Amino acid sequence: MGAVVYALVDVDAMYVAGERLLQPQLRGRPVVVLGNNDGCVVARSVEAKRLGIPQGERWSRLRRDPRYSAAVPRSAHYALYGDLASRIESVVEEYSPDATPYSIDESYLTLPAARATELAHRMREQIATWIGVPVSIGIGSTRTLAHLATRQAKRTGGGIHNLAEADAEQRLLLDSTPVEEVWGIASRLADRLAGHGVSTAGSLSEMDPGRARRIHSVVLEKTVRELRGTSCWPLRPESVPRQQCRHTRQLGTPTCDPELLAAAAAGHAHQLARKLRRHQRRADRLTVQLTCGHTSLEVSQGLPRPTYSTPVLVDLAVRLARSLPRPGHSYHQLGLLAAPLRGVEQTTPLGEPARTVDERLSHALDEITTRYGTEAIGFATTGLRGRSPWQPRQEHLWPVSTTSRHLLPLVHG
Ligand SMILES: [Mg+2]
Repeated sequence: MGAVVYALVDVDAMYVAGERLLQPQLRGRPVVVLGNNDGCVVARSVEAKRLGIPQGERWSRLRRDPRYSAAVPRSAHYALYGDLASRIESVVEEYSPDATPYSIDESYLTLPAARATELAHRMREQIATWIGVPVSIGIGSTRTLAHLATRQAKRTGGGIHNLAEADAEQRLLLDSTPVEEVWGIASRLADRLAGHGVSTAGSLSEMDPGRARRIHSVVLEKTVRELRGTSCWPLRPESVPRQQCRHTRQLGTPTCDPELLAAAAAGHAHQLARKLRRHQRRADRLTVQLTCGHTSLEVSQGLPRPTYSTPVLVDLAVRLARSLPRPGHSYHQLGLLAAPLRGVEQTTPLGEPARTVDERLSHALDEITTRYGTEAIGFATTGLRGRSPWQPRQEHLWPVSTTSRHLLPLVHG
Protein backbone atom coordinates (compact mmCIF):
# COMPACT_ATOMS: atom_id res chain seq x y z
CA MET A 1 0.00 0.00 0.00
CA GLY A 2 1.26 3.49 -0.87
CA ALA A 3 1.40 6.42 1.52
CA VAL A 4 -1.86 7.46 3.14
CA VAL A 5 -3.06 10.80 4.45
CA TYR A 6 -5.79 11.70 6.93
CA ALA A 7 -8.98 13.48 5.93
CA LEU A 8 -11.60 15.14 8.14
CA VAL A 9 -15.13 15.45 6.75
CA ASP A 10 -17.08 18.15 8.58
CA VAL A 11 -20.68 19.15 7.81
CA ASP A 12 -21.09 22.92 7.39
CA ALA A 13 -23.51 24.18 10.09
CA MET A 14 -24.97 20.69 10.54
CA TYR A 15 -28.17 21.53 12.43
CA VAL A 16 -29.11 24.36 10.09
CA ALA A 17 -28.28 22.17 7.07
CA GLY A 18 -30.62 19.51 8.49
CA GLU A 19 -33.49 21.99 8.88
CA ARG A 20 -32.96 23.45 5.40
CA LEU A 21 -32.83 20.06 3.77
CA LEU A 22 -36.51 19.48 4.52
CA GLN A 23 -37.60 23.12 4.47
CA PRO A 24 -36.03 24.73 1.40
CA GLN A 25 -37.92 27.93 2.25
CA LEU A 26 -35.31 28.47 5.00
CA ARG A 27 -32.45 28.90 2.51
CA GLY A 28 -30.95 32.36 2.66
CA ARG A 29 -32.87 33.22 5.84
CA PRO A 30 -31.38 33.77 9.32
CA VAL A 31 -32.17 30.45 11.00
CA VAL A 32 -31.50 29.75 14.67
CA VAL A 33 -31.76 26.25 16.13
CA LEU A 34 -32.91 26.19 19.76
CA GLY A 35 -31.76 23.51 22.18
CA ASN A 36 -32.60 22.59 25.70
CA ASN A 37 -36.30 23.23 26.05
CA ASP A 38 -36.19 25.92 23.34
CA GLY A 39 -34.11 27.88 25.86
CA CYS A 40 -31.16 29.12 23.83
CA VAL A 41 -29.49 29.21 20.45
CA VAL A 42 -27.34 26.15 19.78
CA ALA A 43 -26.73 26.69 16.05
CA ARG A 44 -26.94 29.62 13.64
CA SER A 45 -26.98 29.97 9.88
CA VAL A 46 -24.43 32.30 8.22
CA GLU A 47 -27.25 34.85 7.82
CA ALA A 48 -28.05 34.67 11.56
CA LYS A 49 -24.36 35.17 12.37
CA ARG A 50 -24.32 38.19 10.06
CA LEU A 51 -27.28 39.67 11.96
CA GLY A 52 -25.06 39.48 15.03
CA ILE A 53 -27.09 36.87 16.93
CA PRO A 54 -24.75 35.43 19.57
CA GLN A 55 -24.35 31.68 20.07
CA GLY A 56 -26.01 30.65 23.34
CA GLU A 57 -28.35 33.69 23.38
CA ARG A 58 -31.66 33.05 25.17
CA TRP A 59 -34.64 32.79 22.82
CA SER A 60 -36.84 34.70 25.26
CA ARG A 61 -34.52 37.70 24.89
CA LEU A 62 -33.89 37.29 21.16
CA ARG A 63 -37.57 37.22 20.17
CA ARG A 64 -38.19 40.62 21.75
CA ASP A 65 -35.19 42.33 20.17
CA PRO A 66 -36.27 44.29 17.07
CA ARG A 67 -32.80 43.88 15.51
CA TYR A 68 -33.41 40.15 15.25
CA SER A 69 -37.03 40.15 14.13
CA ALA A 70 -36.12 38.29 10.92
CA ALA A 71 -34.72 35.29 12.84
CA VAL A 72 -36.55 32.02 12.14
CA PRO A 73 -36.52 29.64 15.14
CA ARG A 74 -36.52 25.85 14.90
CA SER A 75 -36.44 23.44 17.84
CA ALA A 76 -33.39 21.17 17.68
CA HIS A 77 -34.35 17.87 16.14
CA TYR A 78 -31.58 15.56 17.25
CA ALA A 79 -33.21 12.45 15.77
CA LEU A 80 -33.06 14.10 12.33
CA TYR A 81 -29.43 15.19 12.77
CA GLY A 82 -28.48 11.70 13.97
CA ASP A 83 -30.22 10.21 10.95
CA LEU A 84 -28.32 12.53 8.59
CA ALA A 85 -25.06 11.73 10.38
CA SER A 86 -25.50 8.00 9.82
CA ARG A 87 -26.34 8.54 6.14
CA ILE A 88 -23.21 10.68 5.70
CA GLU A 89 -21.21 8.05 7.54
CA SER A 90 -22.37 5.36 5.14
CA VAL A 91 -21.03 7.42 2.19
CA VAL A 92 -17.74 8.16 3.96
CA GLU A 93 -17.28 4.45 4.73
CA GLU A 94 -17.34 3.70 1.01
CA TYR A 95 -14.10 5.64 0.69
CA SER A 96 -12.19 3.97 3.49
CA PRO A 97 -12.83 1.00 5.78
CA ASP A 98 -11.23 2.86 8.70
CA ALA A 99 -13.69 5.81 8.62
CA THR A 100 -14.38 6.81 12.22
CA PRO A 101 -17.07 9.26 13.38
CA TYR A 102 -15.60 11.82 15.75
CA SER A 103 -18.72 13.85 16.57
CA ILE A 104 -22.23 14.11 15.13
CA ASP A 105 -20.92 16.13 12.18
CA GLU A 106 -17.28 15.06 11.83
CA SER A 107 -15.59 11.87 10.60
CA TYR A 108 -11.96 11.01 10.11
CA LEU A 109 -10.70 8.59 7.48
CA THR A 110 -7.51 7.77 5.59
CA LEU A 111 -7.13 8.17 1.84
CA PRO A 112 -4.30 7.19 -0.53
CA ALA A 113 -2.03 10.26 -0.68
CA ALA A 114 -1.74 10.27 -4.46
CA ARG A 115 -5.52 10.45 -5.01
CA ALA A 116 -6.66 12.23 -1.85
CA THR A 117 -7.83 15.50 -3.43
CA GLU A 118 -9.64 13.75 -6.27
CA LEU A 119 -11.42 11.35 -3.88
CA ALA A 120 -12.34 14.19 -1.52
CA HIS A 121 -14.01 16.09 -4.37
CA ARG A 122 -15.94 12.99 -5.36
CA MET A 123 -17.03 12.32 -1.75
CA ARG A 124 -18.15 15.93 -1.27
CA GLU A 125 -20.23 15.85 -4.43
CA GLN A 126 -21.72 12.48 -3.54
CA ILE A 127 -22.79 13.74 -0.09
CA ALA A 128 -24.31 16.89 -1.65
CA THR A 129 -26.24 14.88 -4.26
CA TRP A 130 -27.32 11.88 -2.20
CA ILE A 131 -27.96 13.55 1.15
CA GLY A 132 -28.23 17.23 0.29
CA VAL A 133 -25.94 18.77 2.89
CA PRO A 134 -22.70 20.73 2.35
CA VAL A 135 -19.46 19.41 3.85
CA SER A 136 -15.88 20.70 4.05
CA ILE A 137 -12.97 18.28 3.82
CA GLY A 138 -9.47 18.92 5.11
CA ILE A 139 -6.51 16.68 4.27
CA GLY A 140 -3.17 16.42 6.08
CA SER A 141 -0.45 13.93 6.91
CA THR A 142 -1.81 13.67 10.50
CA ARG A 143 -5.23 14.13 12.11
CA THR A 144 -4.16 17.42 13.72
CA LEU A 145 -3.09 18.78 10.32
CA ALA A 146 -6.30 17.50 8.67
CA HIS A 147 -8.23 19.41 11.35
CA LEU A 148 -6.37 22.64 10.51
CA ALA A 149 -6.94 22.01 6.79
CA THR A 150 -10.70 21.71 7.38
CA ARG A 151 -10.78 25.08 9.14
CA GLN A 152 -8.95 26.55 6.17
CA ALA A 153 -11.40 24.90 3.71
CA LYS A 154 -14.27 26.58 5.59
CA ARG A 155 -12.50 29.90 5.77
CA THR A 156 -11.78 30.05 2.05
CA GLY A 157 -15.16 28.58 1.18
CA GLY A 158 -13.45 26.18 -1.20
CA GLY A 159 -14.89 23.07 0.40
CA ILE A 160 -11.62 21.12 0.17
CA HIS A 161 -8.13 21.91 1.36
CA ASN A 162 -5.16 19.58 1.04
CA LEU A 163 -2.21 20.49 3.26
CA ALA A 164 -0.31 17.31 2.46
CA GLU A 165 0.61 18.48 -1.03
CA ALA A 166 2.70 21.59 -0.45
CA ASP A 167 5.13 21.98 2.44
CA ALA A 168 5.59 25.74 1.94
CA GLU A 169 1.85 26.34 2.10
CA GLN A 170 1.54 24.22 5.24
CA ARG A 171 4.26 26.30 6.89
CA LEU A 172 2.48 29.55 6.02
CA LEU A 173 -0.82 28.29 7.39
CA LEU A 174 0.77 27.07 10.65
CA ASP A 175 2.45 30.43 11.17
CA SER A 176 -0.79 32.36 10.65
CA THR A 177 -2.98 30.10 12.83
CA PRO A 178 -3.46 31.13 16.47
CA VAL A 179 -2.45 28.27 18.76
CA GLU A 180 -5.95 27.99 20.28
CA GLU A 181 -7.27 26.89 16.88
CA VAL A 182 -5.13 23.75 16.98
CA TRP A 183 -7.11 20.56 17.64
CA GLY A 184 -7.18 19.91 21.40
CA ILE A 185 -5.69 23.23 22.57
CA ALA A 186 -8.19 24.83 24.94
CA SER A 187 -8.02 28.53 25.73
CA ARG A 188 -6.48 27.98 29.20
CA LEU A 189 -3.68 25.90 27.72
CA ALA A 190 -3.22 28.56 25.02
CA ASP A 191 -2.75 31.16 27.78
CA ARG A 192 -0.10 28.98 29.41
CA LEU A 193 1.67 28.46 26.10
CA ALA A 194 1.72 32.22 25.54
CA GLY A 195 3.81 32.41 28.70
CA HIS A 196 6.35 30.14 26.95
CA GLY A 197 6.42 32.35 23.86
CA VAL A 198 4.12 30.07 21.84
CA SER A 199 1.23 31.87 20.17
CA THR A 200 0.83 30.19 16.77
CA ALA A 201 0.51 26.63 15.49
CA GLY A 202 3.88 27.23 13.78
CA SER A 203 5.69 28.12 17.01
CA LEU A 204 4.06 25.15 18.79
CA SER A 205 5.38 22.81 16.07
CA GLU A 206 8.90 24.10 16.82
CA MET A 207 8.68 23.40 20.54
CA ASP A 208 10.87 20.58 21.84
CA PRO A 209 8.46 17.60 22.29
CA GLY A 210 10.08 16.64 25.62
CA ARG A 211 9.54 20.17 26.90
CA ALA A 212 5.89 20.03 25.76
CA ARG A 213 5.47 16.90 27.86
CA ARG A 214 7.14 18.51 30.88
CA ILE A 215 5.19 21.75 30.84
CA HIS A 216 1.84 20.07 30.17
CA SER A 217 1.33 16.43 29.22
CA VAL A 218 2.04 13.64 26.81
CA VAL A 219 -1.01 14.83 24.85
CA LEU A 220 0.69 18.17 24.14
CA GLU A 221 3.87 16.30 23.14
CA LYS A 222 1.83 14.30 20.63
CA THR A 223 0.21 17.47 19.31
CA VAL A 224 3.69 18.91 18.63
CA ARG A 225 4.72 15.75 16.79
CA GLU A 226 1.48 15.70 14.80
CA LEU A 227 2.01 19.32 13.71
CA ARG A 228 5.44 18.22 12.46
CA GLY A 229 3.82 15.48 10.39
CA THR A 230 4.36 12.40 12.58
CA SER A 231 1.06 10.61 13.14
CA CYS A 232 0.44 9.87 16.85
CA TRP A 233 -3.32 9.34 16.84
CA PRO A 234 -4.17 6.52 14.45
CA LEU A 235 -7.83 5.80 13.72
CA ARG A 236 -9.73 3.16 15.68
CA PRO A 237 -7.54 2.96 18.76
CA GLU A 238 -8.42 0.09 21.11
CA SER A 239 -11.84 1.02 22.41
CA VAL A 240 -12.25 1.17 26.17
CA PRO A 241 -15.63 -0.12 27.42
CA ARG A 242 -17.93 2.47 28.95
CA GLN A 243 -17.66 2.88 32.71
CA GLN A 244 -20.79 4.98 33.13
CA CYS A 245 -23.91 6.01 31.28
CA ARG A 246 -25.95 9.15 31.84
CA HIS A 247 -29.29 10.57 30.73
CA THR A 248 -29.98 14.15 31.83
CA ARG A 249 -32.63 16.49 30.45
CA GLN A 250 -34.35 19.79 31.29
CA LEU A 251 -37.97 19.35 32.37
CA GLY A 252 -40.60 21.00 30.15
CA THR A 253 -42.11 22.68 33.21
CA PRO A 254 -40.16 23.15 36.47
CA THR A 255 -41.90 21.21 39.21
CA CYS A 256 -41.81 19.87 42.75
CA ASP A 257 -44.64 17.37 42.21
CA PRO A 258 -43.24 13.93 43.18
CA GLU A 259 -45.59 12.17 40.72
CA LEU A 260 -44.49 14.33 37.79
CA LEU A 261 -40.83 13.81 38.74
CA ALA A 262 -41.46 10.07 39.00
CA ALA A 263 -42.95 10.08 35.48
CA ALA A 264 -39.91 11.97 34.17
CA ALA A 265 -37.56 9.53 35.94
CA ALA A 266 -39.41 6.62 34.34
CA GLY A 267 -39.07 8.18 30.88
CA HIS A 268 -35.35 8.83 31.43
CA ALA A 269 -34.77 5.31 32.79
CA HIS A 270 -36.35 3.88 29.63
CA GLN A 271 -33.82 5.81 27.49
CA LEU A 272 -30.92 4.97 29.79
CA ALA A 273 -31.70 1.24 29.65
CA ARG A 274 -31.82 1.34 25.85
CA LYS A 275 -28.40 2.97 25.82
CA LEU A 276 -27.01 0.29 28.16
CA ARG A 277 -28.33 -2.48 25.91
CA ARG A 278 -26.80 -0.82 22.86
CA HIS A 279 -23.41 -0.80 24.58
CA GLN A 280 -23.87 -4.32 26.02
CA ARG A 281 -23.25 -3.06 29.56
CA ARG A 282 -25.13 -3.74 32.78
CA ALA A 283 -25.51 -1.24 35.64
CA ASP A 284 -24.46 -2.00 39.20
CA ARG A 285 -25.96 1.12 40.70
CA LEU A 286 -28.41 3.89 39.76
CA THR A 287 -28.32 7.55 40.82
CA VAL A 288 -31.14 10.07 40.40
CA GLN A 289 -30.29 13.76 40.50
CA LEU A 290 -32.64 16.77 40.66
CA THR A 291 -31.43 20.28 39.95
CA CYS A 292 -32.96 23.52 41.18
CA GLY A 293 -30.99 26.67 40.31
CA HIS A 294 -27.38 25.99 41.23
CA THR A 295 -28.10 23.34 43.80
CA SER A 296 -28.83 19.71 43.25
CA LEU A 297 -29.98 16.75 45.27
CA GLU A 298 -29.14 13.17 44.56
CA VAL A 299 -29.82 9.71 45.85
CA SER A 300 -28.44 6.40 44.68
CA GLN A 301 -28.99 2.71 45.26
CA GLY A 302 -27.27 -0.51 44.21
CA LEU A 303 -29.16 -3.02 42.08
CA PRO A 304 -29.70 -6.54 43.46
CA ARG A 305 -27.84 -7.84 40.39
CA PRO A 306 -26.23 -5.93 37.50
CA THR A 307 -28.84 -5.32 34.80
CA TYR A 308 -29.89 -3.38 31.71
CA SER A 309 -33.54 -4.30 32.12
CA THR A 310 -35.97 -1.44 31.45
CA PRO A 311 -38.63 -2.55 34.03
CA VAL A 312 -36.06 -2.94 36.81
CA LEU A 313 -34.39 0.43 36.12
CA VAL A 314 -37.74 2.22 35.67
CA ASP A 315 -38.99 0.81 38.97
CA LEU A 316 -35.88 1.89 40.90
CA ALA A 317 -35.71 5.34 39.21
CA VAL A 318 -39.36 6.01 40.13
CA ARG A 319 -38.82 5.05 43.77
CA LEU A 320 -35.68 7.17 44.07
CA ALA A 321 -37.27 10.19 42.32
CA ARG A 322 -40.31 10.11 44.62
CA SER A 323 -38.08 10.16 47.68
CA LEU A 324 -36.09 13.24 46.65
CA PRO A 325 -38.03 16.51 46.18
CA ARG A 326 -38.19 19.04 49.01
CA PRO A 327 -41.36 21.13 49.24
CA GLY A 328 -41.07 24.71 48.03
CA HIS A 329 -38.40 23.98 45.41
CA SER A 330 -38.97 23.99 41.68
CA TYR A 331 -36.74 21.48 39.92
CA HIS A 332 -35.88 22.16 36.30
CA GLN A 333 -33.59 19.27 35.46
CA LEU A 334 -33.59 15.56 36.15
CA GLY A 335 -30.63 13.29 35.53
CA LEU A 336 -29.95 9.58 35.84
CA LEU A 337 -26.53 8.00 36.13
CA ALA A 338 -25.78 4.30 35.83
CA ALA A 339 -22.32 3.52 37.26
CA PRO A 340 -20.27 1.47 37.63
CA LEU A 341 -21.07 -0.66 34.59
CA ARG A 342 -20.07 -4.23 33.83
CA GLY A 343 -19.78 -6.26 30.66
CA VAL A 344 -22.59 -8.65 29.77
CA GLU A 345 -20.38 -11.80 29.74
CA GLN A 346 -18.85 -10.81 33.04
CA THR A 347 -22.24 -10.60 34.79
CA THR A 348 -23.98 -13.76 33.61
CA PRO A 349 -23.76 -16.36 36.41
CA LEU A 350 -22.48 -19.78 35.27
CA GLY A 351 -25.24 -22.12 34.17
CA GLU A 352 -27.85 -19.35 33.96
CA PRO A 353 -29.40 -18.01 30.75
CA ALA A 354 -27.58 -15.00 29.25
CA ARG A 355 -30.65 -12.80 29.73
CA THR A 356 -33.17 -12.67 32.57
CA VAL A 357 -36.89 -12.72 31.76
CA ASP A 358 -37.24 -8.94 32.04
CA GLU A 359 -34.10 -8.39 29.99
CA ARG A 360 -35.69 -10.50 27.26
CA LEU A 361 -38.80 -8.33 27.58
CA SER A 362 -36.58 -5.24 27.20
CA HIS A 363 -35.05 -6.55 23.98
CA ALA A 364 -38.58 -7.22 22.69
CA LEU A 365 -39.45 -3.57 23.50
CA ASP A 366 -36.44 -2.44 21.44
CA GLU A 367 -37.58 -4.50 18.48
CA ILE A 368 -41.08 -3.03 18.65
CA THR A 369 -39.91 0.58 18.93
CA THR A 370 -37.35 0.14 16.16
CA ARG A 371 -40.08 -1.13 13.88
CA TYR A 372 -43.08 0.99 14.89
CA GLY A 373 -41.56 4.13 16.44
CA THR A 374 -40.75 5.16 20.00
CA GLU A 375 -44.37 5.97 20.82
CA ALA A 376 -45.68 2.53 19.85
CA ILE A 377 -45.22 1.03 23.30
CA GLY A 378 -44.06 2.21 26.71
CA PHE A 379 -44.62 2.24 30.42
CA ALA A 380 -47.75 3.86 31.82
CA THR A 381 -45.64 5.56 34.52
CA THR A 382 -44.01 7.81 31.89
CA GLY A 383 -47.35 9.26 30.78
CA LEU A 384 -46.53 8.27 27.21
CA ARG A 385 -49.70 9.20 25.35
CA GLY A 386 -50.00 12.88 24.64
CA ARG A 387 -47.35 15.22 25.94
CA SER A 388 -46.67 15.22 29.65
CA PRO A 389 -45.60 18.44 31.33
CA TRP A 390 -42.16 16.92 32.13
CA GLN A 391 -41.30 16.39 28.48
CA PRO A 392 -39.07 19.14 27.06
CA ARG A 393 -40.76 21.99 25.21
CA GLN A 394 -40.23 21.96 21.44
CA GLU A 395 -42.68 24.56 20.22
CA HIS A 396 -40.80 25.27 17.01
CA LEU A 397 -40.28 21.66 15.98
CA TRP A 398 -40.80 21.07 12.28
CA PRO A 399 -42.32 17.65 11.51
CA VAL A 400 -39.87 15.63 9.43
CA SER A 401 -40.44 12.33 7.81
CA THR A 402 -36.99 10.75 7.85
CA THR A 403 -37.05 9.79 11.51
CA SER A 404 -40.57 8.56 12.16
CA ARG A 405 -43.14 7.07 9.87
CA HIS A 406 -45.87 8.81 11.89
CA LEU A 407 -44.61 12.08 10.45
CA LEU A 408 -44.87 11.01 6.80
CA PRO A 409 -47.03 13.47 4.85
CA LEU A 410 -50.48 12.16 3.95
CA VAL A 411 -51.43 12.23 0.30
CA HIS A 412 -55.18 12.27 -0.32
CA GLY A 413 -56.12 10.69 -3.67
MG1 LIG B 1 -19.48 21.18 11.41
